[in-house]
Amino acid sequence: MKPIWKANGTFSNNTREKGESIWVQEKETISNNNHERKKLTGDLNIEVAVIGGGLAGILTAYMLQQRGVSVIVLECFEIGSGITRNTTGKITSQHGLIYQRLLRYKGEERARAYAAANQRAVQKYEEVINQLHIECDYSKLSNYIFSLDNENRIQQEVQAAKRLGLPASLTRETKLPFQVKAAIRFENQAQFHPIKFLHGISKELTIYEHTKVMEIQKDGLILTEQGNIRAKFIVITTHYPFINFPGLYFIKLHQEREYLAALEWDKNNSILDGMYLDADPNGFTFRNHQNYLLLGSGSHRAGKQNPEDAYVKIMEAASKWYPGSKIKYAWSNQDCMTPDKVPYIGRYSASTPNIYVATGFNKWGMTGSMVAAEIIRDMICKIPNNTEKVFRPNRMMFSGTGFMLKDTAISTINLLSEHLRIPKDKLREIEKGNAGVVKYKGQKYGVYRDLEDNYFFVTTKCPHLGCSLAWNQNEMSWDCPCHGSRFDYRGNLINNPAMRDTFDACRRKLK
Ligand SMILES: Cc1cc2nc3c(=O)[nH]c(=O)nc-3n(C[C@H](O)[C@H](O)[C@H](O)COP(=O)(O)OP(=O)(O)OC[C@H]3O[C@@H](n4cnc5c(N)ncnc54)[C@H](O)[C@@H]3O)c2cc1C
Repeated sequence: MKPIWKANGTFSNNTREKGESIWVQEKETISNNNHERKKLTGDLNIEVAVIGGGLAGILTAYMLQQRGVSVIVLECFEIGSGITRNTTGKITSQHGLIYQRLLRYKGEERARAYAAANQRAVQKYEEVINQLHIECDYSKLSNYIFSLDNENRIQQEVQAAKRLGLPASLTRETKLPFQVKAAIRFENQAQFHPIKFLHGISKELTIYEHTKVMEIQKDGLILTEQGNIRAKFIVITTHYPFINFPGLYFIKLHQEREYLAALEWDKNNSILDGMYLDADPNGFTFRNHQNYLLLGSGSHRAGKQNPEDAYVKIMEAASKWYPGSKIKYAWSNQDCMTPDKVPYIGRYSASTPNIYVATGFNKWGMTGSMVAAEIIRDMICKIPNNTEKVFRPNRMMFSGTGFMLKDTAISTINLLSEHLRIPKDKLREIEKGNAGVVKYKGQKYGVYRDLEDNYFFVTTKCPHLGCSLAWNQNEMSWDCPCHGSRFDYRGNLINNPAMRDTFDACRRKLK
């Protein structure tokens, strides 16, 4: 099979840029409205410091500021440069087939609270977008989860969702280019342009960009390279929390990657009437954005090599279902997953009462971030909130999910001590445009060989907790199978929880 993604960093069929989402490519359309944001220079004293300017951090800061709390956001790059820039941007309380499962494992009260909080979040987006007149391609649509072969599962989910007060119904008719067995429809959900929204809502916030938090000291002092911050409350919204002890998030979270493409095609050619997702994790996700169709698939644990080339799978599906369409953008993304499919929102740990966290959105961080913002605002402002206990990070995993937590922990611990296969010891054995692991002077190195015969060496020990990095040929990156940190072929950090590059040992050309 011919890869869409060529090893020299270009796509094979006119796709514009490698790896950048449609939202980022369209960024120039919003940059004019954008404030120049400063770096932190010097020390600060503040009521609340939010670390991480993705959707979770920005919404939390916004909610707090609305309550009159003085708050700053510290962002190591620019706002929206993490997971949020590569999302699909569906705003929905329909998170896969989650409601039967929540009812079974968490009980009616908690399942109801989860449903209500996420459904409120859907409505809150509409409210905020209207109030602030944010132009972010917002449109209200139905969201569908379909099955190609199991009507029973869909029927059960419809019943569960209805019982919990959600706007659910069953249908067999969709605008998808194939017949489904059944689908569950949630009415009045929405889609938007996440980066336009982020810039719109953050206009009045105090944000320090290019300000990386290196450490939070025991007494709560936040250290950055440019100055230190003393805050009464700290909120960690860095996607994957960067403090390992306390909290132990590295055994409570793993990351999953998925691949997306934007197809350009004739607008009149049966545009979708809603957002769609296959209930089967190997299936596809669909939504429109203007005259593009977003198509995604290929979910797998980060750092575990995907058996099939996800981009090829998307390309083949596109030509089968939407003949004549062109892939204009293709990118990938990853999110933190929790064993019980419920995010961690609330106190970071019992021993850090003034530090809060929002993570583990299980690929549903649009509503998840809104829920987090409300809960954390209420905790800091001491407003009673009856959903807080559902998302508490130190919650017990209820029966039926205990084994999942054990699975996550065990596989993480196994991977922590896993040794790489005996590496190819001759560099020449590495194919051009590919990578391998070699032993050199007693050390293991990851080696990427480019098309011009340059060899790029990195250490394969992840700087986060020392797991062995694995090569991801789909994206030419070194990925950590334990916690999902990722590095490019030169060792530059792409995704946290690692806080620094993996050592780029050297680059050389073999004669
Ligand atoms: C393929 C895919 C599709 C998805 N589609 C949807 C969808 O349709 N609907 C939905 O609800 N959810 C979706 N999600 C999930 C959603 O995109 C994420 O849950 C959400 O964007 C996470 O936002 P965040 O703010 O937690 O993280 P991020 O956006 O990653 O923000 C974290 C920020 O923290 C900054 N940072 C990190 N470390 C530091 C530090 N030390 N100092 C300062 N700053 C730091 C980063 O630069 C980054 O900007 C999808 C996820 C995937 C993988």
